[in-house]
Amino acid sequence: MTKRDYYEVLGVSRSANTEEIKKAYRKLALKHHPDRNPGNQDAEEKFKEAAEAYEVLRDAEKRQLYDRFGHEGLKGSGFAGFHDFDDIVTSFGDIFGDLFGFGRRGRRSSARQGADLRYDLEIDFMEGVRGAEREIEIEKYTRCHACEGTGARPGTSPITCPTCAGRGQVSRTQGFFELRTTCPACRGQGTIIREPCDDCHGGGRVRSKKRLSLKIPAGVDTGARLRLTGEGEEGMDGGPPGDLYIDLYVREHEFFKREGAHLICTIPISFSLAALGGKLEVPTLEGSEAIEIPRGTQSGAVFRLPGRGIPSLRGYGAGDQILQITVRTPTKLSKRQEELLRELAEIEGESEDLQQDGKPGFLRQFIFGHRGKEK
Ligand SMILES: [Zn+2]
Ligand SMILES: [Zn+2]
Repeated sequence: MTKRDYYEVLGVSRSANTEEIKKAYRKLALKHHPDRNPGNQDAEEKFKEAAEAYEVLRDAEKRQLYDRFGHEGLKGSGFAGFHDFDDIVTSFGDIFGDLFGFGRRGRRSSARQGADLRYDLEIDFMEGVRGAEREIEIEKYTRCHACEGTGARPGTSPITCPTCAGRGQVSRTQGFFELRTTCPACRGQGTIIREPCDDCHGGGRVRSKKRLSLKIPAGVDTGARLRLTGEGEEGMDGGPPGDLYIDLYVREHEFFKREGAHLICTIPISFSLAALGGKLEVPTLEGSEAIEIPRGTQSGAVFRLPGRGIPSLRGYGAGDQILQITVRTPTKLSKRQEELLRELAEIEGESEDLQQDGKPGFLRQFIFGHRGKEK
């Protein structure tokens, strides 16, 4: 479906000022408001369309983007239109407030959801691999125990607001409409606290520390985020609590590295083992495992242990363990080792230095290749 031009939707000229745009939108919103057109799909679409156009054209920055690049220009601006009626009412409450009493939400209350909290947690490499249980302590707003969140001094309780008789709204009639606004005395709560609680000064929540047990699943890596629903700060005026997000940082391991689900490690081996081949015990997540080093293994060779990597977060399967072989050149030699290596060097010299498979070594070929003809 192609989108209509926002100016066309609101029926204003491209040079319309903010006041004209607001007026045009208000008129359309009234006409297509779902409360006036129950069950009318077409009206609902038009209502949303108008809200979207208004959202863009009332904002100087978005309007400029739209004027220059059209609908395409708004794609990167973070504006994605509205999902539903409540979305629109939340955004333009000031326009609807006196006309519809905040629509389907009915009584407006000052209840607000508590803030989300974030916590950085550093864990060991092996904890990330195997999962772990950890205890953390966070400081946050929690429900006040003294007044059980009511905000009223213990022994007393909030009284019904005399201004609005507990409805949270006051109304008066003006011509065609009944104008309803949030009660100024109780801020829409419907109740008033005469004697505030000493602990929370009437807010119903206090700052306190809380210990939480965390279950960290096996296989997590740095960047993983755990969400503890409802463990954020206590809401305001009876609103729900926020959530707590735990951002995980996995410490590096001295030996193992991760690449997604694969476990990478570098295995240094001796020159003689590389040349002759043999069995080698290598560390794994579960302990160790013997692998066969083939005769003539080169530095940089890679071996895989399938399924010995990091367990999948989904709970089944695992990556591979990848062994990168480096051939270690000895730096300190015993007398005997030196003797043997010198002997080896002599033999290598006789056998035409680095000769392989009956062909001259590539270095020799490279350096002396062009002289070959002179000989
Ligand atoms: Zn209290
Ligand atoms: Zn009131």
